[in-house]
Amino acid sequence: MDRSKRILIVGGGSSGWMAASYLNAALNQGSIRRAEISLIESGDVPRIGVGEATIPSILHVLAVIGVDNTEFMTSVDATFKQSIRYVNWLDNKGEYYHHPFTRYTTQHQTLAGELWLGSDRSIPFMETVSPQPIICEMGLSPLSLDPDVPGPHLKYAYHINALKFADYLTKISTSRGVTHYVDHVTDIEMEENGNIAAVNTKSGKRIEADLFIDCTGFAALLIEKKLGVKWVDCSQWLLCDQAVTMHVPYEHHYTGQVRPYTTASALSSGWVWDIPLRSTRSLGYVHSSVFLDAEKAERELRSFEGSHAENLDCRIVPFKVGHREKAWYKNCIAIGLAGSFIEPLESTGLYLSDLATVMLAEHFPRDNNYESLAFRVNRILNNRYYEILDFINMHYCLTRRTDTEFWREVGRAERMTDRLKAKLDYWRIKPPSRSDFEDQYFPGMPTAMTPTGVGDTRAPVDTGTLWDYSSYEAILYGMDFLADECQAWYGDKRYQPPIYGKVLEALQRAPKVLPRHEAFLRMTLGMADYPSKIG
Ligand SMILES: Cc1cc2nc3c(=O)[nH]c(=O)nc-3n(C[C@H](O)[C@H](O)[C@H](O)COP(=O)(O)OP(=O)(O)OC[C@H]3O[C@@H](n4cnc5c(N)ncnc54)[C@H](O)[C@@H]3O)c2cc1C
Repeated sequence: MDRSKRILIVGGGSSGWMAASYLNAALNQGSIRRAEISLIESGDVPRIGVGEATIPSILHVLAVIGVDNTEFMTSVDATFKQSIRYVNWLDNKGEYYHHPFTRYTTQHQTLAGELWLGSDRSIPFMETVSPQPIICEMGLSPLSLDPDVPGPHLKYAYHINALKFADYLTKISTSRGVTHYVDHVTDIEMEENGNIAAVNTKSGKRIEADLFIDCTGFAALLIEKKLGVKWVDCSQWLLCDQAVTMHVPYEHHYTGQVRPYTTASALSSGWVWDIPLRSTRSLGYVHSSVFLDAEKAERELRSFEGSHAENLDCRIVPFKVGHREKAWYKNCIAIGLAGSFIEPLESTGLYLSDLATVMLAEHFPRDNNYESLAFRVNRILNNRYYEILDFINMHYCLTRRTDTEFWREVGRAERMTDRLKAKLDYWRIKPPSRSDFEDQYFPGMPTAMTPTGVGDTRAPVDTGTLWDYSSYEAILYGMDFLADECQAWYGDKRYQPPIYGKVLEALQRAPKVLPRHEAFLRMTLGMADYPSKIG
């Protein structure tokens, strides 16, 4: 019978507590107890405090943890997120497009893109295959108030208060048996075989474990400072390296609506997120410090938001884009910012933490031989990392903006990953479709295709797991990809883009069954009734 393994999670930010609560639920079921979980977080080092927009994978994590959705939403100030609305990414002329979570498909699904490409493009592509962009513009909730009268099927995620999220998971985890220490790790003890044996703390404790999870954020105390696993820098392809953040409380400024989506507006040297929570909006200007210093970024952010933002507090959050060469090394796995980070344009920070946690649960060791499991987990995490990197890189590479040094720089050929370049070149011959994303590789398989024939030295591949052709189409056609090619392919005689019948049906039904987003939040989650204050 399996002996229960002692897991020590070091770090109590969103990634640490997500790992604690998820692993506890996934590994300890009924009489089976595979893990004895403890978490230590420092009272001296604050959490990063950002990470407020999620993607639908969060629903899986919450379902496994076993949370009550209403209690969850109330506790973390949550609102619904159905899409990301990109503004001014193409020409800086007020244009926008949506990347929604829902897309309707039919048997002819892969033809939708081709059909649209041959059309006069008078309706944005995503509006022909999904009702969600218009539902977002109408400001509707994805759920109806009466569960007996469901609305159209719409995928969603949440906007959350990052600090309250970690606090909520702390409460859940500790009430279900996770041991919690508030103490600062000062020193890490090693075994002779290169595994970590124990951590020592400021208050004089020594805590042993079989498996250590490094959730210490960018400090990467275990995986980097002790084990020396390298960080692979990816800043060549994503230039932004810091954010100026600000909260705009509704008591201070409220336009009368809570948008059911995240907005990403391109500015002079990056972009601003606008994330509506239940009592405040969160803004963050993600920019490159090479092209804009923090002081100028702060000024630009205030001026973008308006005069009401003049006296609100701002915070600077530096970050780095890259990933650990191996997230799992020996008996330590890095999850969260200690393991990897990509700038938050598609809200993938928490997703990468959740992916690593879910992978660890799925590959949880039954003995002390971790090597094959670590190989597979590292391979999956690396593939996914580069899948995300390419996708985010694409948002920048397709811009036609040349109005600032930053936008001219991101448009240069060397700022595009080789993989993305290969994809785009291929899609100029054949537009994206389902089968473009595939890979299966396991340890022990012949490595003859690698240059050295040793280990897994293949380049990472995009398995299309998070974003397949459908999301690529959303961004590519939102950014006018193939406009010139289509002129050559189809000439001037174009038809109006056909809209799926199901989309039209959903749009007719939606206003009858879906309340406005803020009305849903008021009626089901007790959001305050803020008077509109504009100016
Ligand atoms: C600008 C920015 C915007 C972002 N936006 C999003 C977003 O919209 N959506 C999204 O999904 N993700 C986003 N992210 C990512 C997200 O913030 C992180 O993935 C998430 O917060 C997880 O952080 P963490 O738990 O790894 O680290 P942290 O929150 O930094 O936690 C580190 C923990 O380690 C502890 N610690 C450190 N040193 C010690 C020590 N010596 N002893 C004991 N404990 C120690 C600290 O006390 C703390 O508890 C964003 C990130 C940045 C930088």
